[in-house]
Amino acid sequence: MHHPENDPQYAGLAVNKGIVQPPSINPYLKKKQRKAYTPSEYIENILKGNITLLSQAVTLIESSKYEHQQIAQEIIEKCLPYSGNSQRIGITGVPGAGKSTSIDAFGMHLIHDKNRKLAVLAIDPSSERTKGSILGDKTRMEELSREPNAFIRPSPSAGSLGGVARKTRETIILCEAAGFDTIFVETVGVGQSETAVHSMVDFFLLIQLAGTGDELQGIKRGIMEMADGIIVNKADGSNVDKAKLAATQFKNALHLFPMPDSEWLPKVLTYSGYYKIGIPEIWQMVDEYFSFVKANGYFDFKRNNQAKYWMYESINEQLKSNFYQNENIEKALKIKEQQVLNSEISSFVAAKQMLDLYFGGTR
Ligand code: GDP
Repeated sequence: MHHPENDPQYAGLAVNKGIVQPPSINPYLKKKQRKAYTPSEYIENILKGNITLLSQAVTLIESSKYEHQQIAQEIIEKCLPYSGNSQRIGITGVPGAGKSTSIDAFGMHLIHDKNRKLAVLAIDPSSERTKGSILGDKTRMEELSREPNAFIRPSPSAGSLGGVARKTRETIILCEAAGFDTIFVETVGVGQSETAVHSMVDFFLLIQLAGTGDELQGIKRGIMEMADGIIVNKADGSNVDKAKLAATQFKNALHLFPMPDSEWLPKVLTYSGYYKIGIPEIWQMVDEYFSFVKANGYFDFKRNNQAKYWMYESINEQLKSNFYQNENIEKALKIKEQQVLNSEISSFVAAKQMLDLYFGGTR
């Protein structure tokens, strides 16, 4: 192949032909087989707080293989009676708001000053940021990742938002059974994933920044309405006054919203995740919220509603994935799609024919 550097004028430079890489570095190096545990071994060890088996059970939850799902469901079922005893906290904020820095700081405070055990989960269906790699999340939360009382698990990377959310919800159950009394579910502050997180947590924390000028924008409004606490980050150095002003604006904006069902008036605080200023105050607010909603019955009401919601979500999701993963359906869909595109049949007729094919006239 001609290469510019091989031109005679570059007399001192000769580019050698590359070599074709062998298919594997060492074909004799066999993949280490992981010991297969029985569901009861998983359960026994999870209940003892064994992180390695907890982690492997979460991998089963995330797997799309049928056998893995079978074992995962059995583990979840048996862990369920030991779950529920935690504070489930959703944390959201736009990229750059300081979620990783803050979670690191919150986690260290909770573990060291409040003797808690913290699991950090995430819902990020696009998962572009870390490509679902554990290393990505470990470097994001540097201090916390070295803590034995912290369990950090990145977002399940594959699948629809519904699928990803279900897996995270199931992971919460296992983490609680393993003794984690505080669960963070983090999400990027864009799109619909907030709604999914909101449906699985007790308290929804929104991290905001001062001076972004979008305090009252459309999407944020929706998210603000879900928030039980708004915390303005980066209240440090010359930014303190701006952060306080933003907090006042958020407080005023909150007055425009109807009273939440919980009857808890969302609080607005300023803090610095990086310099660790104002963090105990945030957890005082969270604890106050829990005492408040436990006293007025909203805590149980919400958890029951969430359980109901997740039953329907699981049905919807399983029906959908069962349908789309069916080989006959897959083939027929391609044909129907083309017929619709060619205007040979209407979308509705195509849909009906597909469902008839799936249910085989049992409807
Ligand atoms: P994420 O995308 O929401 O996870 O945000 P990061 O935690 O990665 O933070 C984004 C940037 O903001 C990083 O450069 C952080 O160092 C910086 N940052 C985070 N928290 C603070 C803070 O409290 N004060 C200041 N000054 N910078 C912060």
